[in-house]
Amino acid sequence: MVTMGESHRNNAPTPELLTLTGQQLDAFLACQRRFQLQFEERYPWPAAPLDDERQLASTRGQQFHQMAHRYFLGLPVTAPGGDPVLEGWWKTFQETVLPLPAGLCLPELTITVPLGRHLLTGRLDLLLLHDGRAQIFDWKTGPLSDEASLRASWQSLLYPALVVAAGSAIHPEGQPIAPDLVSLTYWSAAQPGERVELAYSTAAHEQNWQRLLDVAGAIDEARRHTGIWPLTDDMALCSRCRYRVLCGRQAVAPYQAAEEEDLGLLREPLEPYLP
Ligand code: SF4
Repeated sequence: MVTMGESHRNNAPTPELLTLTGQQLDAFLACQRRFQLQFEERYPWPAAPLDDERQLASTRGQQFHQMAHRYFLGLPVTAPGGDPVLEGWWKTFQETVLPLPAGLCLPELTITVPLGRHLLTGRLDLLLLHDGRAQIFDWKTGPLSDEASLRASWQSLLYPALVVAAGSAIHPEGQPIAPDLVSLTYWSAAQPGERVELAYSTAAHEQNWQRLLDVAGAIDEARRHTGIWPLTDDMALCSRCRYRVLCGRQAVAPYQAAEEEDLGLLREPLEPYLP
């Protein structure tokens, strides 16, 4: 294993600012070398080919998000190609999600806020501001993870933290947004009756924000060193990684479920359109 001790400090100026995503933070925590190869040295991470079934599911996921986006923009909504599966999902969406409380609807909202000396960014499927509350919605088209897994995911940490940090910049009256008034709802077309709503809180926000700062600080520290950053000891991560040859780990058998390769190292994917 290559450790940070084998690299050396570089006298170069402080590294440039980063716009960090949840995916990058997760990748860094999983394997620093993966982060270095993908985001510092910009080695390509080609998408794995999907079989027909997975490709269709991915396309439908994108189309469903576009339909929801059009709805909240006040545009007409039709299922592309008259796809009966999409039509069924949309009917379910209308029956189990709508109508939402009257308020300010911000669909497909990208929020970027300062995080230490860097920026932190993420995109929300929908933010609804109403009656002093800030409700985040995340649409899925595949099965939902259990509540504990959803709560532990980067998505659940990142999205409420972004909303609170953006605060007055997105509030219609320019007011701060109190963490206790923020919630995140996961809804899936596959399990419309089992939506998961996670409450946020001041204590959770303080803890989350410190965690985000700590990871950003650790990335900064790593970037002050030249040489190879530490490789993970978790071969299960390597089995899903396309940089095995670059790490001398080509002997690690690739993970068999090819469809999961597109999720990278994430346990809970942040890419919005992958079911
Ligand atoms: S192959 Fe393993 S050690 Fe190398 S970048 Fe990928 S996850 Fe990290």
